[in-house]
Amino acid sequence: MLEKRNFYINGAWVAPAKANDFEVIDPSTEEPCAVISLGDQADTDAAVAAAKAAFADWAFVDKSEKMALLKKLLEVYNDRQEEMAQAMSMEMGAPISMSRVNQVGAGSWHLEGFLKAFEGMSFERDYTSTEKTLLEPIGVCALITPWNWPMNQIVLKAVPAIAVGCTTVLKPSEIAPLSGLLFAEFMDEAGFPAGVFNLVNGDGPGVGSQLSAHPDVDMVSFTGSSRAGKLISKAAADTLKRVSLELGGKGANIIFADAGAKGVEYGASRCFRNSGQSCNAPTRMLVESSFYDEAVEIATRVANETHVGPASEEGQHIGPVVSKAQYDKIQGLIEVGMGEGRLTAGGLGRPDGLNRGYYVKPTVIADVTNDMTIAREEVFGPVLSVMKFDTIDEAIAIANDTDYGLTNYIQTPDDEKRHYVARRLRSGMVETNGQGFAQGSPFGGYKQSGNGREGGMYGLEEFLEVKAVSGWS
Ligand code: NAD
Repeated sequence: MLEKRNFYINGAWVAPAKANDFEVIDPSTEEPCAVISLGDQADTDAAVAAAKAAFADWAFVDKSEKMALLKKLLEVYNDRQEEMAQAMSMEMGAPISMSRVNQVGAGSWHLEGFLKAFEGMSFERDYTSTEKTLLEPIGVCALITPWNWPMNQIVLKAVPAIAVGCTTVLKPSEIAPLSGLLFAEFMDEAGFPAGVFNLVNGDGPGVGSQLSAHPDVDMVSFTGSSRAGKLISKAAADTLKRVSLELGGKGANIIFADAGAKGVEYGASRCFRNSGQSCNAPTRMLVESSFYDEAVEIATRVANETHVGPASEEGQHIGPVVSKAQYDKIQGLIEVGMGEGRLTAGGLGRPDGLNRGYYVKPTVIADVTNDMTIAREEVFGPVLSVMKFDTIDEAIAIANDTDYGLTNYIQTPDDEKRHYVARRLRSGMVETNGQGFAQGSPFGGYKQSGNGREGGMYGLEEFLEVKAVSGWS
């Protein structure tokens, strides 16, 4: 079993102030695979103090020097990608092939996107001939990340914050902390000055809340549940720090009859990808009534053909969900959904042949209406709800009738119809016809899916203050 009890503070690996062991469970086997420490106030304070001290210099380090360090980080990341793939696969159950390509790939993709955006960005703008607008780093940033796309989320926060001159304290998810620890090794190897990047492991009520309330933290950037997002916002209120939130979703996938089978196949497999553990998963499939029965059949076939297996197995499949708590939550929601709609694939319990590990059957529940619990709650498992609509405006109304607003999807070859719907969907992102987003595209949500945007230029701007200076000649 891996022993990873130390934190990375002020450029060194240090023991926790007080021993507080926490076992990391491999969701494929339900066996402990590592032990970490959960930090307490003294550890949080030490990391914040290191970040605060480092800020004074780092904020004024030349862009070229920062660029060189970030390029070195990308080099280290690419050189050690197999270690990273193995760590994420073990801690959160992503199948190893998927972990190598998608989980690891997300990190390097965003890192490259930030490098391009940073290179072209100007931090001083002439407002008038005698007035300057300076864009400056906000200060010490706490970065609190979840377990579902660990490197995606860590890179989306740590890299832009550090690029623009902030200093950081990362608290990765205690459920999947190994990738974060490895990332700290990468930062160390890349040679960032002491205190620019710090890592303290801990849970939400502990280090998470301490960082959110800390008077020397200027900003919290959080990804995770809306529940935790609300608690963080409340904890941050007394110090009025900036809080940027990337929260849950309940994405609608509007499929018009002219989209054909491809739209349904894509939508269903996209929902099951990463075992359904993506905030932007298209979990509500809305199908035009003339195509509805056929679409249910296709989605059912996709679910039945989706192989579930251990993360260590090579090839295309989905792995377990991350933890017993998530498994139990998902089973509960499948049961509710079975009572509300019509089960056409999957259902309760593990897939055949899997007796241990948090494996969930890819599940389709048809004849769902948007008032049902299964259509309203974020399941965060491989569970698809299918419902029907008659008119284009009804589809838009159903899609928007949710507390969330992260990503919605549209499938139709008809340009006019697609643009009409895209303009009316209340979400930060609208993905159409399976066309992925470009590098550096802004990622974030409307409504209770959060605020702020991550990635590329928008992601860099999140960590800036704006200063107006007059009489600048
Ligand atoms: P969570 O939101 O509780 O945990 C995410 C991170 O927040 C972890 O690092 C955790 O330690 C921290 N955290 C938790 N409570 C906190 C608090 N009060 N103050 C500061 N930090 C806190 O998520 P979870 O319990 O692991 O998963 C529960 C649900 O959250 C899932 O079922 C899913 O619906 C949702 N979720 C969404 C995303 C996303 O990307 N939007 C990611 C993970 C989970």
